[in-house]
Amino acid sequence: MLIIKWHKWLYSNKLDELRKKKWKQLQHVLQKSPFYAAYSNESRSINEYPIMNKASFMKDFDQINTAAISVDEAFDIAFKAEEQRDFSSMIGDIAVGLSSGTSGNRGVFLANENERAKWVASVLDRVIGLSFRKRSVAFFLRANNNLYESVKSKWLSFHYFDLLDTPEKHINRLNKLQPNILVAQPSLLLELAYAIEKNNLSIRPEKIISVAEVLYPEDKAYLQKVFKQNIHQVYQCTEGFLAATCPFGTLHFNEDFLIIEKKYIDAEQKRFHPVITDLERHTQPIIRYELNDIIIEDSPCPCGKKTTAIAQIEGRSDDVLKFMNKSDKMIIIYPDFIRRAIIFADASIRDYCVIQQSDQLILLFINADNEVYEKAKNALQNVLLQHEIVKVKINRIHSKQHFSGNKLRRIRNEQKQSN
Ligand SMILES: [Zn+2]
Repeated sequence: MLIIKWHKWLYSNKLDELRKKKWKQLQHVLQKSPFYAAYSNESRSINEYPIMNKASFMKDFDQINTAAISVDEAFDIAFKAEEQRDFSSMIGDIAVGLSSGTSGNRGVFLANENERAKWVASVLDRVIGLSFRKRSVAFFLRANNNLYESVKSKWLSFHYFDLLDTPEKHINRLNKLQPNILVAQPSLLLELAYAIEKNNLSIRPEKIISVAEVLYPEDKAYLQKVFKQNIHQVYQCTEGFLAATCPFGTLHFNEDFLIIEKKYIDAEQKRFHPVITDLERHTQPIIRYELNDIIIEDSPCPCGKKTTAIAQIEGRSDDVLKFMNKSDKMIIIYPDFIRRAIIFADASIRDYCVIQQSDQLILLFINADNEVYEKAKNALQNVLLQHEIVKVKINRIHSKQHFSGNKLRRIRNEQKQSN
């Protein structure tokens, strides 16, 4: 913790220097990676390293990691642990984590004890903040990741909530616990907000942190209204701790220990895939790893931080809807355009879901009466027509088709051959 503070003070406005220094140091670690040894050199620039994605990263897993662990061994132990809901999957002192993803497209990630401790310290420092007052943290997790189990703090007591438990059980526990800090995914925060509005739940956390799922702007606004405070965010995945909100509530990339390259995916250069290099992960070096998340960049934040500000995490590239228009041209529609069309169709729309099933079928869930549903359907139809997409049927469904414990994505593409 002290080292983190020291670095923060020393390099607060010298990010480039800090990254350069860490990049040089990292080269010694890369010597131990059979895959990267040939590249590593103190004077070599990052551009000379190959860009990786989940597939190539998993293909060369055995050669990339510095602990001589094979991909089969890692997957085997991670899957077994998940099946048995025993989340202490370790190989020696190295923890093994599975990344979420569509089936068949999951990744496996390694972190040793030192890396886990650093990770947790930076999350705590950035998100919760230091305070010499005993505080309780209610922490909702899909899997009780031993990353957080390892946090033993004199000032924070962690209480884990298993997302697979019933909402009644959560509400009972929360009413008793009265947590100071609440950490959960947006779909669960929404459930809690409904319970507050129905007077079933009465808690007054001083800080609320949204994790794991996309926090849609309208959900954020509703949560802020019910909880009467800013909703903070942590953007992290097994691939790394990527961003956290500043006191202004803006998400900033952690560019003191990450190098973020932006791979723009639209002509306006507004949306990009982050290509991340983590300067502090040694067991499994993360060098130029392209995530398929779609980030919308923000203008510089009034807080004065020099790190890249994020306006919105729009979703993943598999949340992009794809159709052929009447001239047989492939049209890509980003989730945010769909979202805006739906929520601006009627002020009462809050709970919705848009699922593309095929080139000619969209399933639409709107939690409202027929009149409001028709408005949303027309708005969606208009977006399609603007792109000359015709012959797409929109069918009403009466649930979000979301199962608790899974991540909620309000807009998603479930076409079989999407890529
Ligand atoms: Zn800021």
